[in-house]
Amino acid sequence: MNAKEYTGKILKQIQYISPGQDEFYQAATEVFDSLAPLLDEESKYMENSILERIILPERTIIFRVTWIDDMGRYMTNIGYRVQFNSALGPYKGGLRFHPSVTLGIVKFLGFEQIFKNALTGLQIGGGKGGSNFNPKGKSDNEVMRFCQAYMNELYRHIGETRDVPAGDIGVGAREIGYLFGQYKLLTANFEGIVTGKGIGWGGSLGRKEATGYGSVYFAEHILNKYQKEIKGKRCVVSGAGNVATYTIEKLLSMGAIPVTCSDSKGTIYHPSGIDINTLKAVKEVGRESLEKYAEIHADSQYIPLHKYPAGGHAVWSIPCDIAFPSATQNELTLVDAKNLVKNGCILVNEGANMPCTPEAVEYLMGNGVLFGPAKAANAGGVAVSQLEMAQNASMQRWSFTEVDTRLYGIMKNIFDTADATASEFGRDGNLVDGANIAGFRRVADAMIDEGAV
Ligand code: NAP
Repeated sequence: MNAKEYTGKILKQIQYISPGQDEFYQAATEVFDSLAPLLDEESKYMENSILERIILPERTIIFRVTWIDDMGRYMTNIGYRVQFNSALGPYKGGLRFHPSVTLGIVKFLGFEQIFKNALTGLQIGGGKGGSNFNPKGKSDNEVMRFCQAYMNELYRHIGETRDVPAGDIGVGAREIGYLFGQYKLLTANFEGIVTGKGIGWGGSLGRKEATGYGSVYFAEHILNKYQKEIKGKRCVVSGAGNVATYTIEKLLSMGAIPVTCSDSKGTIYHPSGIDINTLKAVKEVGRESLEKYAEIHADSQYIPLHKYPAGGHAVWSIPCDIAFPSATQNELTLVDAKNLVKNGCILVNEGANMPCTPEAVEYLMGNGVLFGPAKAANAGGVAVSQLEMAQNASMQRWSFTEVDTRLYGIMKNIFDTADATASEFGRDGNLVDGANIAGFRRVADAMIDEGAV
């Protein structure tokens, strides 16, 4: 059987045994498509049934979360933790609280996380979790009671050397604090069982900034290869959460001009450059709509959802040199890719997980746009999470500069690994294939060493 037949067979199997998980098939198909040259060259992966095993989570925990709202009513949500692969270390990956969360979404994110974590070169396995709970519009007390109820089940499955969750969409410093507090109450142990903790109680300086800063460092490493630099470039960024905010902050500090941000209701276009202080005040502190940003900056424009181009997103129709999709999956479509190419965009760097549809990726790369794939470009967050674990384990506290310097080095290393691997398999400059093959090879080799488990 050749590689194409082998991967086709496995993809068919997963669609049969886990129906209705479209995002998971999408993520698996992208990885498997990249692996063909490796699988054809090295028979050991087929002989050891690596694809049959790597596609199945080692453990999937699904649980009911019952909590009481401010009116005294019983509320019910679904909780998930998918412990996907521990060949390289304890499961590591965030928790997402958003109404769109399903088992398929958690599996797509967990599957991506395996290879992303491998690419960092650190000893971390892959996992992901979350709930269909919507923190929006809830009081702090309701969010706290939900987090406590979620942890009432999760605490039995996690641990410093077992599984260490972190944040993702809808899970920031507030939620991590409540989750940690409840774990401590249930176990009477003060342990680093989550990352993204507050600086005063075990968190790492630089963790909050890490995914966004790391994404910009990765973009800079790509540009440097082609004798270009980020300074002076007009950038469009989607999202207005953790990743987008710190992408914009780093772009500004490196002399680029980020002109957009967006949330689930609309887009801000600010031709002179996003004001980072206003963005933080509106979204990070105030948890308000971006409409408020436009009220503060009369020279900016607010574009609500109903004015977006058909089948596309307003952010990607604004002329730019570089695009940083940093909100959510499948937010950059073929329509958007065509607009970016038409407007002369030279690089798309994925800050969010799987933000570009497969058709968009194919069109961008086919038209000579440089492309930084998510599992490499946004790996800075999980890398600094691991640095937080290392500081907790050694009872040390590193300075912001030390963490940021290590992050810069890790992003360079990820770029070099993905780039060299792409060249090794005759796919020069194709960082999608380079990242997938390099991440897969490290995990698969460990699985072979560890035997039939
Ligand atoms: P976040 O702080 O919750 O921010 C998410 C942003 O995206 C918000 O502005 C949100 O708008 C917007 N958004 C969410 N769902 C959307 C939808 N369906 N349509 C339009 N806009 C939507 O989350 P984050 O941590 O920045 O994560 C963003 C992405 O980066 C995700 O794909 C995540 O998996 C990935 N990522 C995060 C990290 C990390 O360290 N946080 C690391 C690696 C990858 P509202 O403000 O209106 O809700």
